[in-house]
Amino acid sequence: MQLILGLISILFAEVVRDFYHIAGHYWQPIKQYHLLHHKAYRRDFSIANMELYQKSQLYNDVPEALCMVGLGAVLALVTQNPGMWLGCVYSIAFLIPAALRSQGMLLATDLSHKPGDLVGIPAQWRVNRTYHWRHHFDETNAYYAGHFTSVDRLIGTSLALKGKVVAVTGASGTLGQALIEELSNQGAKVVAITTNPNTVFKNEIAVLQWQPKAETELLPHLQDVDILIINHGINVHGDRSPAAIYESYEVNTFSTLRLTELFFQTVTKSSHTATKELWINTSEAEVNPAFSPLYELSKRTLGDLITLRRLDAPCIIRKLVLGPFNSQLNPSGIMSSRWIAWAIVALAKRDFRNIIVTINPLTYLIFPVKEFCQSCYFRLFTKSAKIVTEATIYPEK
Ligand SMILES: [Zn+2]
Ligand SMILES: [Zn+2]
Repeated sequence: MQLILGLISILFAEVVRDFYHIAGHYWQPIKQYHLLHHKAYRRDFSIANMELYQKSQLYNDVPEALCMVGLGAVLALVTQNPGMWLGCVYSIAFLIPAALRSQGMLLATDLSHKPGDLVGIPAQWRVNRTYHWRHHFDETNAYYAGHFTSVDRLIGTSLALKGKVVAVTGASGTLGQALIEELSNQGAKVVAITTNPNTVFKNEIAVLQWQPKAETELLPHLQDVDILIINHGINVHGDRSPAAIYESYEVNTFSTLRLTELFFQTVTKSSHTATKELWINTSEAEVNPAFSPLYELSKRTLGDLITLRRLDAPCIIRKLVLGPFNSQLNPSGIMSSRWIAWAIVALAKRDFRNIIVTINPLTYLIFPVKEFCQSCYFRLFTKSAKIVTEATIYPEK
């Protein structure tokens, strides 16, 4: 019991840290001191100016840790529980190094600002360097979390969309259009990618035409895209002809997979590891019937292959696992596409990597289990395949 209370007090200390940080961005009296912290580093997290760095430790990191210690002590005194003092001890373990760093000592203890290229994608539960890098150099009014990502996830600052270039395939479809609108509302610069030359988009939306099998033509345009949302698909419904089989797999599975590999190729800089993302609409058909067997088969294969490629992905991949919504593909769908688009964005901003939006409660239970087990199975019986070359994407050439 005391141990659980101790863990709660640590969590409390981290919440205090995050709110102190948020206050550093919005509350004038401490804003100037927090600004020192932001000025102290170059883009590779090397120290820009030693004097400034020491000052930032003294006026930002030390008071932050003091606040954690002080409020932790108040919590322990109010609750009268010895276990609650653990949070205080934990906070002191941050206070002492910060005080020493302000004197130019123990600089290597500044782990979330270790200089050098970013290694690995932003972590989901605990803040790693790539996660925190985004707070400094992607969007300072997001990614506030210092150790656990929970506060960002709670207030929806785990992903900043403002100013990001977001490209959406299947842009002329119902969900594509709803996503474009929602993303534009969030301040993203949206690029509509469509196979339909007749769709009319708002003036501010850039439009790219493409055709399945000619994905490589999109590569130059994808270089500057921060987030690619692969959302196109086909539903042949009851058709079971060889042509329907081929078309379902070609559009739903292979063209998506080729675009995925192309997008991976655009992750070339250290900063891309932090900012680039791929969102893939694999659909609820991954785990539930969609009453359209070829739609299910092709989407399931896609979902499985994305689970496999996720193991080596150089950037974040989010799966969009959506239930039936009203669209041209599915006129009998129940949910509205506008609501789905809103929910997708809201969950992405809370760093859900599997974004499930459906009215079927079973999906919320089955999908995470399926994803976890399959991911473990793939990890056990396959080996790393990080290098992507054109030859591996287009073996037929
Ligand atoms: Zn900050
Ligand atoms: Zn920082």
